[in-house]
Amino acid sequence: MTDAGPARDALHRVVIVGGGFGGLYAARELGRDRRIDLTLVDRRNFHLFQPLLYQVATGALSPGEIAQPLRSILRRQARTSVILGEATGLDVARREVLLSDGGPIPYDSLVVSTGARHAYFGHDAWAPFAPGLKTVEDAIEIRRRILIAFEAAEREADPAVREAWMTFAIVGAGPTGVELAGAIGEIAHDTLRRDFRSIHPEDARIVLVELADRILATFPEGLARKAVRSLERLGVAVRTSTTVVGIDEAGVAARVGDREERIPTRTVLWAAGVQATSFGRELAKAAGVEADRAGRITVADDLTLPDHPEIFVVGDLAVMRWKGGREVPGVAQGAIQSGRQAARNIRARLDGRATEPFRYKDKGNLATIGRGKAIADLGRFRRFSGFPAWVLWLGVHILYLIGFANRLVVLVRWAWSFVTHGRSTRLITGTPLLPEIREPEPPA
Ligand SMILES: Cc1cc2nc3c(=O)[nH]c(=O)nc-3n(C[C@H](O)[C@H](O)[C@H](O)COP(=O)(O)OP(=O)(O)OC[C@H]3O[C@@H](n4cnc5c(N)ncnc54)[C@H](O)[C@@H]3O)c2cc1C
Repeated sequence: MTDAGPARDALHRVVIVGGGFGGLYAARELGRDRRIDLTLVDRRNFHLFQPLLYQVATGALSPGEIAQPLRSILRRQARTSVILGEATGLDVARREVLLSDGGPIPYDSLVVSTGARHAYFGHDAWAPFAPGLKTVEDAIEIRRRILIAFEAAEREADPAVREAWMTFAIVGAGPTGVELAGAIGEIAHDTLRRDFRSIHPEDARIVLVELADRILATFPEGLARKAVRSLERLGVAVRTSTTVVGIDEAGVAARVGDREERIPTRTVLWAAGVQATSFGRELAKAAGVEADRAGRITVADDLTLPDHPEIFVVGDLAVMRWKGGREVPGVAQGAIQSGRQAARNIRARLDGRATEPFRYKDKGNLATIGRGKAIADLGRFRRFSGFPAWVLWLGVHILYLIGFANRLVVLVRWAWSFVTHGRSTRLITGTPLLPEIREPEPPA
């Protein structure tokens, strides 16, 4: 049902680029305002719940369960249009967003929330051997590599090659690296335990490599130590103070102190480094502001750009200040809250009020390490781990997952997996479909 309001051309035009956490929550806040004509541009037609991507990558969930079409999420907002397109430029003088295949889209206020993706610290040549996890395609590719490794090991006659197939290296021990390592440990020790005949999946070697002297830098040390113990119980070897110096199709070269070592493996996963998406650079150029080394843009307290009060930058793309000058972390809550604040500031201006500074409210940090185990940091006196933290982790993820059907399906799937120890989406798709097997040499 459309509600009669002012003619569309008399409305304040807001364009949002990016329908991730920042953009979507801004759109929901602005969609309620009858003075605003809203356009949301995204190069994908869906909102992706990235915190559960690793579950797609490890066969626990399907992509459709953690993504929802943007059109369907916003269908009740009569004055909101969704455009499937890639923003490639900006004309700040004419106030227009330029799309790769058309446009321009005029705006009175602009919200940019195009996020970030992984970066290889200048070693882009490593990318084909060590995929990162950011998109649905990345998750499916990682799932293919993990499952194919066990298939190849099952048929491989050469023990050294078999061992390389049975070795998994994960680079970067932030929450994503830890969750991936834990999930692979669980696949090897639990899910696949009875599925193979010539290998023992529980012999898999899982190595989590971290440059810093401890894992999970954003968590307190005590919780990080508990996470290490949980990982070790799942067969994960945690290697801190270890610098990756090379990655190729045969494995990882790493430096520990002055010693260099090689980890022969066919499966390397990248969970380190963050780089802003390319539209951030275009925005910085057009608005005459500096981007930091990771391509992110520093915003004023009210999330606008200097000299461009009509442009708001939120989420992972923005460098936003918090208590004591600290940076707001690149997490979903940072994006959600800043997206909402940008929207509230646009509405404040329409009311003739001043914009308000963004005040990040830290709701805590959670990470899960395999079945029934997690760590929770909800402030100095509310730190805990184990099963209660895992239940909290489940609850929070269900709460924030978009779409009633998704919540229900994911809840049922998790309950089913918990009871059966299964992972129901262990499908090998993508190419190459078959593992690369070297036939054993015939006896001389
Ligand atoms: C694997 C993984 C696990 C994570 N786990 C957690 C977790 O457990 N807890 C937590 O709090 N946070 C987690 N995060 C971080 C969290 O997902 C991000 O902080 C959050 O998504 C940032 O929101 P955003 O709106 O800035 O960007 P995003 O959510 O990345 O959204 C950006 C959007 O912009 C679109 N876009 C990009 N460029 C263009 C363009 N040029 N034109 C049009 N559209 C464009 C993209 O398609 C995307 O929809 C995780 C992230 C990853 C990758």
